[in-house]
Amino acid sequence: MNDVSLALAELTTIRSQELQNWFIEHGQVSGRIRERHIAVAKQETTEPRDLRNIPTKLENAVLQRDNFRCRYCSLPLVAKSVLHAFSKLMGPEAFCSLGSNLERHGIALVFRANVDHVVPWNQGGLTDVNNLVSACQCCNYGKASFTLEQIGIDDPRNRLASDRDSWDGSTSFLQRLRGKIAPLERPVRRNPN
Ligand SMILES: [Zn+2]
Repeated sequence: MNDVSLALAELTTIRSQELQNWFIEHGQVSGRIRERHIAVAKQETTEPRDLRNIPTKLENAVLQRDNFRCRYCSLPLVAKSVLHAFSKLMGPEAFCSLGSNLERHGIALVFRANVDHVVPWNQGGLTDVNNLVSACQCCNYGKASFTLEQIGIDDPRNRLASDRDSWDGSTSFLQRLRGKIAPLERPVRRNPN
């Protein structure tokens, strides 16, 4: 069995539903509950702003700098391109990487690589490499639009580089996955006869 076959076989053993349930019940709503129950005044800014959306090139630079680990909780993250490749190989019914929470595979919810504004964008934080860190979706939703001070957590940018390792979000695996996808996408030639 080659690595791709092994990875696909392993993915079928993942308890996707449990990951999905956990993400929906605890990961995603934690920030919303905090916003509802903790009365923290937010300092909305009216200054002209840079874009909230993070350009792909900047997002990739941040993820690579952070070795595809959540800077808040150290969870290893999986690159979106890798999740989409698994979806193409396995089919969206077996592994859905996009769509609603109920449609997505648990891995594509909990381990999906995101980038977070440390100083929230709507509190004046810049879309800048110095204000961005890699984050898992649970930490991203959990922090919501609070500052570090408002929710009392340490600045993830101060964590030592030794906290991180050579994990690459499975991006080094991407070429092998795409090599398996290419034959599936090749157009079928019609017999001229
Ligand atoms: Zn995290």
